Amino acid sequence: MNNNKYEFKAEIKKLLDILSKSLYQHKEVFLRELISNSVDALKKIHFLSLTDKNIENVDKNLKIEIIIDSNSRTITVKDTGIGMGKEELINNLGTIAGSGSQKFLEQLNKSQETDKKKVDLDVIGQFGVGFYSIFMVVDKVKVISKSYIKEEIGYQWESDGSGEFILDISERKTRGTDVILFLKEDEKEYLDKFRIESIIKKYSNYVSFPIYVSEIKKEEEKEKEKEEKKSDTKEDKPEEKKPEPINELIPLWKKISKDISDEEYKTFYHFISNRYDNYSHVINYSIDGTVQFNSILFIPESDVNQFNRPDDEYGLTLYSKSIMIMKNCSDLIPKWMRFIKGIMDSNDIPLNISRDTIQTNRVMMKIEKLLIKKILRELDDIAEKDSDKFKKFWESFGPYIKEGIISDAFRTDRLLKFLRFKTSISNEGDYRSLEEYIKNIPETQTEIYYLVGENLNTMKLSPHLGYYNENNMEVILFEDPIDNFLMMNVHEYKKTVGEGENEEIKSYKFTPIDMTEPAKGDKESNKKDDKTEQTEEDLPENIKKFFEYVKSTLKEKIIDVKLSDRLYKNICRLANPAGGMTSSMQRAMRYWTRTESGKEFEIPRKILEFNKNHTVFKSLIDLYESNPKDNKINIVLTQLFENCLLSEGDLPNPSLMVPRINKLIELLITGKLPTE
Ligand code: ADP
Repeated sequence: MNNNKYEFKAEIKKLLDILSKSLYQHKEVFLRELISNSVDALKKIHFLSLTDKNIENVDKNLKIEIIIDSNSRTITVKDTGIGMGKEELINNLGTIAGSGSQKFLEQLNKSQETDKKKVDLDVIGQFGVGFYSIFMVVDKVKVISKSYIKEEIGYQWESDGSGEFILDISERKTRGTDVILFLKEDEKEYLDKFRIESIIKKYSNYVSFPIYVSEIKKEEEKEKEKEEKKSDTKEDKPEEKKPEPINELIPLWKKISKDISDEEYKTFYHFISNRYDNYSHVINYSIDGTVQFNSILFIPESDVNQFNRPDDEYGLTLYSKSIMIMKNCSDLIPKWMRFIKGIMDSNDIPLNISRDTIQTNRVMMKIEKLLIKKILRELDDIAEKDSDKFKKFWESFGPYIKEGIISDAFRTDRLLKFLRFKTSISNEGDYRSLEEYIKNIPETQTEIYYLVGENLNTMKLSPHLGYYNENNMEVILFEDPIDNFLMMNVHEYKKTVGEGENEEIKSYKFTPIDMTEPAKGDKESNKKDDKTEQTEEDLPENIKKFFEYVKSTLKEKIIDVKLSDRLYKNICRLANPAGGMTSSMQRAMRYWTRTESGKEFEIPRKILEFNKNHTVFKSLIDLYESNPKDNKINIVLTQLFENCLLSEGDLPNPSLMVPRINKLIELLITGKLPTE
C-alpha cells in the first residue's frame, strides 16, 4: 500500500457500496448532513474561542459557504469551523468505524427484508455516519482541511468511495474545512442554485450560522455577461449586491410577533406541519419567568391533510436553545389536542433530553400546563369574538374536543363550554352551546334534555320529541357516533351564577328524553303534569285487557306496555326503563361488540308506551273490545312496534316490513285484509 493510501474500515466499505448504488429518493439529505457537520465544527471553535484568546476574530468569521461550479460539476461546502488535522481526517472519515455504521447497516438490512423499496436512508445522520451520504451523489470527494491548532499544517483527503482514500499535504493556511463534491453525471440537479437553496431552507433553515450560496458561472455565460457589460453605459451599471445568508438566522419564534407577516407564518406552518393547506389560527406565545420558552402553535383549517387523511403523526416539534431535538413530541399537549401543529423552544430543557426522560421532566410538565391553558384561552376568545370562525373550527375539530371531554377528566367542565350541537329548535346549519341552551330555559329547569340518534332528520321525527315540541322545550340532538361515548361520560354541567356573595354553582343534569317516566314514589315523578302515570290497577278494564294482549303478542320483544304523557302526535314509542341502560350506552356497546367480536349486540328490550289520546290507539282498544279475534289488530300492532324500532335505528332489516305494508295497503284500498 502506498504511504498516503488508506483503506476504509470493513463496515464503511459495505456502507459506501450500498450508498453509491442507492436509488433512494431523498438523496438531497447529503447537504443537510454536510451542513450539520459544519455547524458542529463552527460550534466547537466558538466554544474554544471563549476560553482560548489566541483564536482571533472568531465570531466575525463563523460561516458556511456553498459554491456551485457548473464548469467542474462540483459543489463545495466550506466552513470556518474547527478543522481537522491529519489524525482526525484519517480517524473521523474512514478508519475508525464508530458503532454507528454497524447499527446503520443492521437497520438497512432489516428494512430491506421487510420492504425492498422502503430503505430509509433519511435517518443516516442519526447513526453518526452522515458524511458518507454524499456517496449517493458523487463520483469523488475531496476534503481540504486545516485544524485550528496553529502548528498543524493543512491536509487533503480524497476518495471515490470504492474502498480506500488518499491523504496528502495541502497548501491550505486558514482554519476550516472545504468539502468538494464531484457530482455524478446524473446528479446535475444539484448544480441548480435554486434547488440548493430550497434544500437548505427545508432542512437547515434555523441553524445559527449564516449559510451563503454562490455560483461560478459557466464559461459561455461569463462571455455573454462580458458582452452585455461592454454595451452598458456606466450609469446603468447595477450596484454589486452584498451577499445575504440564505437561512433565517433568527428563528421565527424569536422574532417580535408583530413583525411577523402572514406569509412568514404560512411558510413556517408548511415547514413545521408538512402540510400544504392554510392554518386557520396562529398562537405566538412566549414566557420568560420561572420557566422560559417560545412557542408558535397553529390550528389548521381542517383535520385532514393533502391526502385527505388525518395526520398519523402528531405533537409539537421540540427545540432546545434553537436546536431541534425532536419532531412529533407528544408530551407537550394532550393527545386530544393532536390537531395543533407547531414548535416549542425552551432554554430550560437539556439538549440531551430523551423520549424516556421527557415525561418526568418538571420543566416540560410546567410548559405543557401553560400551553394547554393558553390554547384553551385562545379558543375562548375565538368563540366569544368570532362565531363564524369558531363554527368552522367546531366542524373540523369538534370530535377532538369531545374526545377531550371524555378523556381529560380534569378539564371536562372547562371543555364543555366549547361543546356545540344541533337542537330541536336550532336553525338549519347552526349550532348552539350549553350557555345558550341554559339561557333559553325556565329558571326552575335543572335538566338539559337530549336525544342521541343516527341522524338529525330521523331524530326530528322521533316520537320522543312530541311532549317537548308541544311544550316549547329545547332538546339537544346528538348525531355523531362519538356522542354516545360523550353522554356515557358526562352527567352534568356546572355553571357559576350570581356574583359576589350571591355566587353559587348551579348544576344541570343531562337527561335523555327516551327514558320512561320514573316509577311513582321517585321524587322526580312529583313534578310537572305527571298525572297520567298510572299503576296497572288504575287502568280502565278495556285498556288493561288490550295491554295483556299486547304483552302476549310481543312477548320477549318488550319489557312492559304502558300509557305515557310524553307522546303527542305519535301513537306509541319505545322507551328505556328508568334506571336502565341509556341509548348512548346501548349504541356504545353495539359499537364495541362489533369491533371486538364482530357480533351484533342485542339491544335491550324496552317499554312500549301508548298515547291514550291518539285516535288510532282509541280505535284499537274499541276494536279489541268488540272483536279480540279481528286479524287487523295483530298486523297493526306489529307494524306500530316495528315503526318504533325503525325510528330508534334498531330495526335490523326494514325491508322485511314491505310484505306487511302491502297487506295494509290492500286493507286500505279494498277494506279487507288478504287471506293467506
Ligand atoms: P457525525 O457528524 O454524526 O459524527 P459524520 O460521518 O457526519 O458523523 O462525521 C464524522 C466526523 O468527521 C465528525 O464527527 C467530525 O468529527 C468530523 N467532521 C466531519 N465534517 C467536519 C467538518 N466540516 N469540520 C470538522 N470536522 C468534521
